[in-house]
Amino acid sequence: MQAKYRYEDFTWPEIRRAVSDRRVAVLPVGTVEQHGPHLPLVTDVLTATEMSRRAVERIPEEAVLLPSVYYAFNEHHLDFPGTIAVEGPTFVNYVSDIGKSLAHHGFQKILLVNGHGSNVPFLDIAARNITNHSNAICAMVPWWNLVPQDLLSRLRESDFPGGMAHGCELETSVLLYLRPDLVQMEHAAPDFPVQSSEYFYWDLEKPSPVFFQEFFSRYSRTGTSGDPTKASAEKGRQFVDAVVDRMVDLIRQLRDRTIEPRVDHH
Ligand SMILES: [Zn+2]
Repeated sequence: MQAKYRYEDFTWPEIRRAVSDRRVAVLPVGTVEQHGPHLPLVTDVLTATEMSRRAVERIPEEAVLLPSVYYAFNEHHLDFPGTIAVEGPTFVNYVSDIGKSLAHHGFQKILLVNGHGSNVPFLDIAARNITNHSNAICAMVPWWNLVPQDLLSRLRESDFPGGMAHGCELETSVLLYLRPDLVQMEHAAPDFPVQSSEYFYWDLEKPSPVFFQEFFSRYSRTGTSGDPTKASAEKGRQFVDAVVDRMVDLIRQLRDRTIEPRVDHH
């Protein structure tokens, strides 16, 4: 029988065992927000959760999968119906508290798997809070950072920069593979910001050198940013498989990582 891996299915003695087995705690974090007229609000939760689940399912004796965090920071999407926005400090503190609870129970290694671009700075801080204020170490990875560059170059058809930003070729491909029943391709259309330059653009393949995010409705008519018409389920399958392979590798590397003692040089 395959080992249990869903955290919420464990009893407390089983959690104690999972800790002594040095399992890595994997926490998917998404957001609930508009993703254009063709993708569901749950897109970022769904991608982070399903990729994490597939990775943990492959190595159930080495990791546990936490229930996902659904709500996060996305004020800039509020002009579109459906978006649920949480203030930055609330979100950082909430995720930090989850990590500190895991550390309190003895988990030493925690991985945050992120599904939403604007979560990056907040989850970076949350991971540092957990690492700095507990005996555990916590790392964070946005799933698209795990797409191998050669695979991306081979499959990508939309223009860079801009083609892969939001509800785009990449996210729509992944949804077409994971949950085609939730994708309305008849409503998918390209949407690129009018003002785009080497300093001001959005693209998941490579962030622009300048940190800047204004209200989404200022530069997107549809709520999409990029070209979802270039998406396909086959691309999605290749992206997801590659990300899951690397996530398994990453979880194992984090598990094997030695936590060196601190040295107080006062
Ligand atoms: Zn998204």
